[in-house]
Amino acid sequence: MNAIQPIKANTVSGCSTAPIQERGQREVFCGLTGIVWLHRKFQDAFFLVVGSRTCAHLIQSAAGVMIFAEPRFATAILDERDLAGIADIDDELDRVVGRLLDRRPDIKLLFLVGSCPSEVIKIDLKRAALRQSRLHSPRARVLSYSGSGIETTFTQGEDACLASLVPILPPEPASAPKTLLIVGALADVIEGQFARLFDELGIGPYVFLPMRRVSELPAVGSNTTYILAQPFLGDTARALEDRGAKRIAAPFPLGEEGTTLWLRAIAQEFGISEETFDRVTASGRARAIQAIANSKKLLADKRLFLFPDSQLELPLARFLSRELAVDLIEVGTPYLHRDHLANELSLLPADVKIVEGQDVEMQLDRCRAARPDLTLCGLGLANPLEAEGLSTKWSIELIFTPIQGYEQAGDLAELFARPLNRRTRLEV
Ligand code: SF4
Repeated sequence: MNAIQPIKANTVSGCSTAPIQERGQREVFCGLTGIVWLHRKFQDAFFLVVGSRTCAHLIQSAAGVMIFAEPRFATAILDERDLAGIADIDDELDRVVGRLLDRRPDIKLLFLVGSCPSEVIKIDLKRAALRQSRLHSPRARVLSYSGSGIETTFTQGEDACLASLVPILPPEPASAPKTLLIVGALADVIEGQFARLFDELGIGPYVFLPMRRVSELPAVGSNTTYILAQPFLGDTARALEDRGAKRIAAPFPLGEEGTTLWLRAIAQEFGISEETFDRVTASGRARAIQAIANSKKLLADKRLFLFPDSQLELPLARFLSRELAVDLIEVGTPYLHRDHLANELSLLPADVKIVEGQDVEMQLDRCRAARPDLTLCGLGLANPLEAEGLSTKWSIELIFTPIQGYEQAGDLAELFARPLNRRTRLEV
C-alpha cells in the first residue's frame, strides 16, 4: 500500500493545509467517456474510437443510441488478428475511414480516439490522423487524441480532444479586436444564458470552444483572452497560451458566488464598470440565492466526503461549504492544477483536507471511519457504500447535468440534497 506523502503547501490564502498526494489503485472512468457529451456539441464531427470490444461497450452503454439522427461515434474494433499485422493497420484505417466518409458526407471533422488495449498503444494515431487528413483534405479534417484509461480520467478526454483542436484554429487577422473565448463544453442552455449576460454587459466579441461546426473554428492569437468554464482543461489551456492567448483567472461558475466571481473577472478584463455589472447581474444573483434556500436547510452542517473523480471536486466543495454551509471532511481530486484552481483554493476553509490522486482502499477506509452524511463518488463506489448505509451522489451526474450559472444554482444544490431527502424518506 502506498504511503501518503505531503507535498508543498499552498501559497494562497484560504485553504492553508498542504494537499496530500496519493498514488495507488484508482476508481475512475477513462477519457473515452468524454465522447458521450462531446458528440452532442460538435454537430459535424465524428468520434471513431480505435479500440476493443470493451471500449465499444463502454461508449454504447454510456451514450446510448441516437434515435433521431445518425450516430456521431463508433468503435473500430481491433482484435488479436491485428496484433500480427501492424503493417496492415494503415490499410485497415484507410478502409474504415474511407467507407465512413463516403457514407456520411455530413462529417467534416473526424477524431481518431486512442484507447488502452496493447494492440492500440502500438499504433501511432497521430501519424495515422495526419495521413488520413492528407487523403481526405479538403473534404474532412482528421485529428487524433487519446482517451486511454491508462493515461486519462474521464474528464481528461475533453481536455485531450480540445487540445487536439488548438493547432487547427486559424490565426487572428492583424486587426482582430480583443476577443473572449469561453473554453469548456457547456450545455446549450447555459451557453445561451451566458451569451445574454455578455450582451447585456457589453462584452464582445465572444466565442465558445467547443464550437458547433468546423466552419466556426474560433481564431486565436495575442488578442484572445480566454476563460475556462471547466476545471479539467490544463492541456488545452497550455496549447492556447502557446498560440498567444491570455487566461482570465477566476473561480468556476458554480453557484451564485462562483458565477458572480467568474463573470466579474471577465467584466473587469473588458473594462465594464462595477455599476453596470451590479445592474446586469443583480436579478440572476437574487434568483440563485433564493433557489438554493430550501436545499440549504437540509444540507447545512451535513458532513461531506468527496472522492476524486471529475476534477470538479474543488469548485463543488467551495460552493457547498460557502453557500450551503456543508462541513467538508475530505476533498479528493484526481489532479490539482494549482494555477487554474488557485482562486478556488483561496475560498475553501483554511483547514480543509485536500487529497490529490487516489489510493482507493485507503480513501475508503477514511470514508468509512468518518461516516459522512453524504459521499460524492464514482459509480463503482456508490453501490457498495450505499449498502454500508452511507448516502452517495454519483459525481458523473454533475458532468451530464447543466449546473453552471445563476439559473442552475438551485438544481446543483438539489442534486446534493436529493440523496439525503431520499434516505430520510426511506427511514420514515
Ligand atoms: S480505453 Fe481502456 S479503460 Fe477505456 S473502455 Fe477501452 S479498454 Fe476500457
